[in-house]
Amino acid sequence: MENLSLIDSHAHLDELEDLQESLQEAKGTGVSGIIAVGMDIESNRKVLQITEVNHGYVYPAFGYHPWQIKEEKVEANLSFIRDHIENCVALGEIGLDYKIKTKKELQQRVFEELLGIAIESNKPVIIHCRYSHHRAFETVKEMKIKRAVFHWYSGSIDLLDKILSMDYFISATPALIYSPSHQEAIKRAPLERILLETDTPVSYQGKEARPKDVKITLQEVSRLKGLDPSIVLEQTTANASRIFKIPFRP
Ligand SMILES: [Zn+2]
Repeated sequence: MENLSLIDSHAHLDELEDLQESLQEAKGTGVSGIIAVGMDIESNRKVLQITEVNHGYVYPAFGYHPWQIKEEKVEANLSFIRDHIENCVALGEIGLDYKIKTKKELQQRVFEELLGIAIESNKPVIIHCRYSHHRAFETVKEMKIKRAVFHWYSGSIDLLDKILSMDYFISATPALIYSPSHQEAIKRAPLERILLETDTPVSYQGKEARPKDVKITLQEVSRLKGLDPSIVLEQTTANASRIFKIPFRP
């Protein structure tokens, strides 16, 4: 475990005030790459800026989180994404959330537009779903998306089997320490279909995550699977490298 080469496949770096310090800590912990996900046009712009300054270490994903969707701003963000599509390694964070007030129809329309951009540009997608797992999966499948990550998957095992049968990925977070539904999903999914992440700066048990905490995710996945962390590390880093087409540095 001397030379880690962890990839944090989902972090909201644009929300960090201690960004450079957090990146240094991540490097010191053996994190070799981070996927910075965007939430809306402002966040996408910041993500682009961060990845330009940290080229080859932070990789951008542009998105439109369902929490951030505002009807009057949809076109501006979609054009930003189209204009910068060649700069990103994925579209995300995108998806459906049925626990919020934003109209389901509007969420669905934006989600489908984004999936359309992913198809045209041959990019993978990073999906958020809450109380909407089936609808999100059906939409992704119907739109013939080839590469998808169901981020922090804690839906049903039945649906997980369908997700896995499409060769889609799920990602693991430090919530594995305490979330039974997330643990069940990670136990069930083969290692070849799992990515590691932190969803920085989400708080787990009262402590805000940073990309270095992807090491906690590694430990938890290893514990649940009863595997040596070096095996989990190598496979999940290879998975991230394959889906996002980023360099693999074992
Ligand atoms: Zn997120």
